[in-house]
Order: sequence, then structure tokens, then C-alpha cells
Amino acid sequence: MRRYLIAGNWKMNLTRQDSLALVRGIVSNSQMGEHVELAVCPPSVYLDAVSGVVADTDVSLGAQNMYHEPSGAFTGEISAAMLMDLGCKYVILGHSERRHILGETDAMVNQKAFAALEAGLQPIVCVGETLQQRESGSTGEVIRQQFEGSLAGIGAEQITRLVIAYEPVWAIGTGKVATPEQAEAVHADLRTLLENRYNAEIAAAVRIQYGGSVKSGNADQLLSQTNIDGALVGGASLEVDTFLGIAANAR
Ligand code: PEP
Repeated sequence: MRRYLIAGNWKMNLTRQDSLALVRGIVSNSQMGEHVELAVCPPSVYLDAVSGVVADTDVSLGAQNMYHEPSGAFTGEISAAMLMDLGCKYVILGHSERRHILGETDAMVNQKAFAALEAGLQPIVCVGETLQQRESGSTGEVIRQQFEGSLAGIGAEQITRLVIAYEPVWAIGTGKVATPEQAEAVHADLRTLLENRYNAEIAAAVRIQYGGSVKSGNADQLLSQTNIDGALVGGASLEVDTFLGIAANAR
């Protein structure tokens, strides 16, 4: 059985003090049981501080990005080993903001995914279509290309340590959530892509999260879809009540 993963992507928000207050609030109210895992992904400069709060709790730590090289002259970048050193379990890769604002390509996401897995991190690899792509009927093809490109060469053992996040670009930070049917259709397609490349058993084991304007009011219907195994949450992860309200639907 797949365990729900409810992960908060704090993006470039909060101060150090706000981050500590938020994670303390989450930790002290986070009795989720064995079927739900919570994760927080603070800005990289606060990972160390937040790590100190989640250590020895059920809340996991994730980073929002990393670089694929292990070390060297890459000013401003952070390696997978550094994230492991800080206690990270997850790293978000290929978020649409990185793809669209910072020019990240599938090939770059693929390099990062290999480096993350090699270091022992679990990548959360994001895919998703723009509004124009959805309206022109190319959602399936866009998702297939991102799947093939971002996950090229990932082996059967590695893929089960990886999470896929389906995040339609038009739903991120817009308040426009995909309908449960729209989301489930893409998740089911992703599961079929996994089955065709690996096998049914592996496809059934990989977690596929939905992301895009998830709130406590819409999480119930989304999370009750067969192929939706959690949520990657942006705006609603910045407050204890709204984040835990989403997680309560999974529980
Ligand atoms: C995200 O940043 O991954 C996201 C889904 O944001 P929001 O929940 O604010 O739409």
C-alpha cells in the first residue's frame, strides 16, 4: 500500500523565526498514523534550523532544489551530499517555477535525479502542463515527454525511491485547482507510463502526488482518487492549520 505524502513547499517565503514557529506548530500537531507522511521543504538557508526541530519526529525534511555535481567550483549551488548532511530525506526537482522562470530542462532534472538518488535522497520530480498546452489538447504528450526526459535511465530499484508530483502549471498559486477527474486522468496516465517502462508491481509502488492550489476544502476529493498519493502544497503550507487541515483529509 502506498503511503500518502503531504509535503509543504515553502518556496522563497518566511523568516528564520517564522520557519521555526511553523515547523514547531506542525511537529506538535502531527500525529498522522502509519498511512500519512508529512514533509516540510523550507528555503535552503533555513534547512539546518528546521532540521533541528524535525529530528526524531515523524515529520520529514525536504529541499527545494540542488545541483547535480558532488562538489567543486559551482558558486551558489548546493549538492545532494550537503542536503543529506542537513538531514534531508527529499528534494523537489523540476518544479515548474524552476523550469519556467530559471530555465531548467528535463535533461537538467534528470542529472539532478541521478545525483540525488546516488546520495540517498528521494527526489520529488515535478511534471505539469501549461494552460495553453491543456487547451490545445497536448497534456498527455507534454507529461509523457517530461516523464521520459526527466526520468531517462532511472532503474527499477531507483524509481521506487522517487516520488512524482503532477502539478499543472495553471493551477500553481492561482487558486484554480484541477478537478479530481482531471488530476486522476493524468495520474492514471503516469501510472501506465510506469507500468509500460517497468512493470505493474513497480508502477503500483511509486507515489504520485498532486500539486496546484490544494486547500483543506478540496483535498478530500483529490486525495480520494485511486492514483493520487498525496499533495505538494505551496501557499497553504505556510500556516499550521491549513497545512494540517489538508493532511487530515489523507489521514
Ligand atoms: C507548489 O508550489 O508546488 C504549489 C502547488 O503551490 P500552490 O499550492 O500555492 O498552488
